[in-house]
Amino acid sequence: MALSRQQIRDAATELAINAGVHDQFPVPLERIAEYLDYQCLQFLPDDTTNKISGAVNHQQRKIYVNGDDPARRQMFTLAHEIGHVALHGEVEGNFIDHRSPGPKTPKELEADMFASELLMPEFHFRSSWSEWDGVPSLIATVYGVSEQAVKVRAKILKLR
Ligand SMILES: [Zn+2]
Repeated sequence: MALSRQQIRDAATELAINAGVHDQFPVPLERIAEYLDYQCLQFLPDDTTNKISGAVNHQQRKIYVNGDDPARRQMFTLAHEIGHVALHGEVEGNFIDHRSPGPKTPKELEADMFASELLMPEFHFRSSWSEWDGVPSLIATVYGVSEQAVKVRAKILKLR
């Protein structure tokens, strides 16, 4: 990856502070998008777009999220798209995110890592983890994310 984990973490922390949502959970992502001057929209997928989880259009300053996805998945997608805005910006062009099991490009991995840092900051996550005895479903509720996202986060932080 072009960016280190520390750089990505710092970018996520800084953004939350600047947007005035630091230490609010689940993170009010729409306020962050608003702070960045991007509009969040849900799209209803058809046959050509049902494999798309989200997208960002810098010219129109719009972030799109698949409205058919479960709410907690949409939460992660929105944070991922905000990651593209914060880390990759307008010069990099637009992103369309497809659901695909294949290997991800460095920019996609960076946006995923950003989403994880933004939604579940390490210090806060560690205390939630002990508070809720490492039960993923309870911790997922704290952050408004899927159990899967909690499990991945715990693994990265070597809690399980
Ligand atoms: Zn992406």
